[in-house]
Amino acid sequence: MSNNAFQVEHRYLDLPDNFYSRVQPTPLTEPRVVCFNHKLATRLGFHVRNEQDWAGIGAGTELLEGMDPIAMKYTGHQFGVYNPELGDGRGLLLWETVAPDGTRWDWHLKGAGSTPYSRFGDGRAVLRSTIREYLCSEAMYGLGIPTTRALFMVSSKDPVRRESIESAATLMRVAKSHIRFGHFEFAAHHEGPEALKTLLEHVISLHFPHLINLPETQRHARWLEDVVERTARLIADWQAVGFCHGVMNSDNMSIIGDTFDYGPYAFLDDFDAGYICNHTDQSGRYAYNRQPQMGFTNCQYLASALLPIMEEDSIRQCLGRYESAYNERFRHNMCAKLGLEENDEGDLSLIMDTFSMLHEHKVDYTHFFRGISNLHKHGNTPVRDLFADRSVADEWLERYEARLQKETRAHDEREYAMRKANPKYILRNYLAQQVIVEAQNGNYDPMKELLNVLANPFDEQPDYQHYAALPPDWGKHLNISCSS
Ligand code: AMP
Ligand code: MG
Repeated sequence: MSNNAFQVEHRYLDLPDNFYSRVQPTPLTEPRVVCFNHKLATRLGFHVRNEQDWAGIGAGTELLEGMDPIAMKYTGHQFGVYNPELGDGRGLLLWETVAPDGTRWDWHLKGAGSTPYSRFGDGRAVLRSTIREYLCSEAMYGLGIPTTRALFMVSSKDPVRRESIESAATLMRVAKSHIRFGHFEFAAHHEGPEALKTLLEHVISLHFPHLINLPETQRHARWLEDVVERTARLIADWQAVGFCHGVMNSDNMSIIGDTFDYGPYAFLDDFDAGYICNHTDQSGRYAYNRQPQMGFTNCQYLASALLPIMEEDSIRQCLGRYESAYNERFRHNMCAKLGLEENDEGDLSLIMDTFSMLHEHKVDYTHFFRGISNLHKHGNTPVRDLFADRSVADEWLERYEARLQKETRAHDEREYAMRKANPKYILRNYLAQQVIVEAQNGNYDPMKELLNVLANPFDEQPDYQHYAALPPDWGKHLNISCSS
């Protein structure tokens, strides 16, 4: 089928039996590989001659030697309420491979049919949501934000019932780990301290190998501190690009700090601090401006799960790292976006006032920051044009220019660096919607073109200018269904 240069492992099977169930995929009919990530395959250590060779694997009718599909058991807090019934309800971990560069990759087939953890679900994923996950994981990767990846997707004509009848698809999601905060909650609340410790040591040995040789107490503390800090930095990265996750439940939080599980996510168009992208989230628990707090809440859930095996004081100290790690990364990100290299005591208020202004005047977040990355190249007009009231823009620009006087970098050097921090292209919901409609009609070329553009979001790509356009009215604040 292909030249494999990876090693096969399945270290998840080292965990106690209760952490998973062996489940065979439920076949889909007439599968077709509709998108394949060849660059990623190369990183994993293989090359594909014929994409369609992977259709059977994506459809659950075929397994490669060494694949041993399991559904992982985890629990978690959903919208603040503990749910002991969770687990892979529609995805199967097939195996782990180790690439020639030593990187470990989990292969997880999402949409593979029901499992003991499916509850009322059908175990399927629809084409629409599979495309959305594929697009966004690759868009995040292009932006340099830690994320799970999309290796390939398969579509089938098999019907799936959601609000309407849709068609089935599967995604081969790959990630360095599929272990979530919720795995720890499961171990702590249902399996006991021994199992919890086994899980913790498993995660450390696979994903935090630099900690292995520390004495136990220190090893655990350094690990939790690292997880808390990665989570804080991840969310500071989301805030900087205007990404709203939508379902920050603790079962959707990756233990290695990847963006995990793309459902009703959105990138902000007009800046709206309280934007809620998930229309089932009526209280706005996961609104854009609440994400930093929710990241911390999830770390608290993880921390409580660790109480049986770690000292409370030590846990509290680790949690204390969240705020400083978040603030540090957030400030770093925003200073990069504003092109500020020198330290100035007024910078934090400049940052906060900028957000207030963007919010009050509903300015397109991405266009604004890209616009100020080209002030000396293209002039003020593109930025002023984003404001209904230009005097607001002028006042801000005056303050900003005054602040820039304190910088030592040349304008063109600064703006070049800013264009590496302020993407020109983001995955606006309307762009995703357009390629979904085409794909539903059997045309995947637009999806592939959009993926190519989003792979280099900081580049000018003049031939693809239209992907950077402001959203049409119909495309602003689309109501994205949570059903997937
Ligand atoms: P999510 O909201 O996608 O993070 O899913 C939350 C839980 O519901 C997880 O345990 C999923 O495996 C499960 N789940 C979601 N959709 C389905 C489905 N269609 N069939 C079975 N389980 C599902
Ligand atoms: Mg999930």
